[in-house]
Amino acid sequence: MIIQFEQEIEEGQKEAIINRVKGLKYKPTEVKTQKGDYLVGTGSKDFDIRSIGSMDGIKDIHIVSDGFKLVSRKWKVNPTVIDLGDGIVIEEGGFQIMAGPCSIEGEDQIRKTIAHLKSQGISIMRGGVYKPRSSPYAFRGLGIDGLKVWYELAKEAGMKIITEVMQVSQIAEMDPYVDIYQVGARNTQNFNLLDELGKATDKPVMIKRGISGTIDELLSSAEYVFSGGNERLLLCERGIRTYEKATRNTMDLNAIAVLKEKTHLPVIADPSHGIGIRAHVEPIALASIMAGADGVIFESHEIPEEAYSDGQQTLNFAESNRLIDRMRKTFELRKSF
Ligand code: PEP
Ligand code: MN
Repeated sequence: MIIQFEQEIEEGQKEAIINRVKGLKYKPTEVKTQKGDYLVGTGSKDFDIRSIGSMDGIKDIHIVSDGFKLVSRKWKVNPTVIDLGDGIVIEEGGFQIMAGPCSIEGEDQIRKTIAHLKSQGISIMRGGVYKPRSSPYAFRGLGIDGLKVWYELAKEAGMKIITEVMQVSQIAEMDPYVDIYQVGARNTQNFNLLDELGKATDKPVMIKRGISGTIDELLSSAEYVFSGGNERLLLCERGIRTYEKATRNTMDLNAIAVLKEKTHLPVIADPSHGIGIRAHVEPIALASIMAGADGVIFESHEIPEEAYSDGQQTLNFAESNRLIDRMRKTFELRKSF
């Protein structure tokens, strides 16, 4: 069950509600986020919702029997809106594009990318300064110093930053410079990191689907952050590992449609990692929009062949421009249905 507390609830009222929940043999967990105070009760016994719902201090009560509750659309019908400030929002019914290199490589690259994105009316730039790499000898990112340089240039240009956080100790140093944290596919089930992104920051968090993760596991990962206290969340389908060897990953368009039904959180598609082949990024991006994605994140670079990472799936600026134009047209088509 999810109980939404009234904003002005008194301590005594809260205590009475918690005791009633315990009396039903449900385990109560208090959750305080930027947007509200909740009590999540987990248990299995059937109970009469009226026996609690009429208590003082309760705004609303909902029965959600799934493992993930706060991120479920079963209780929150209104979709979550991620407001980044300066008129930049990610929300159902809208369509946001985030683009940029796999890795941040230096000032010149950042400037060129910003100019390219601005010329296309894009306000959110992606890029990794902490890179999870399969080989320890591969480029592992410019770290916090790279992020600071990027931040200054982005601020000047009115550009928002989405970048990956890999471990708990990075959150405090990154926080002033980040607009959206990305949790990478290799960290989707790093529960300590998820817990801390719930507690230690109010900034939005985009959680990518695990390399072999199920849809419900992705939702449970989001539940960690929400129940930790941060409900500014986005989910990202980035392809999963299957028996197929012809592509880097298998982009699961099913997941986009299913997630849109199961959760009130915005769903973002990452066709670059989803297929991993530059020539096929565009059709997969367009298909993701038709499947219901609220936004697309993709990799672009002035000279992909020289990119420090993921060049094989990265678009050059001309390809990027074409994709952006076609994505916008596809979104208009979807809206017309
Ligand atoms: C990335 O966005 O560059 C990245 C490493 O993504 P993923 O975690 O999905 O592999
Ligand atoms: Mn990448």
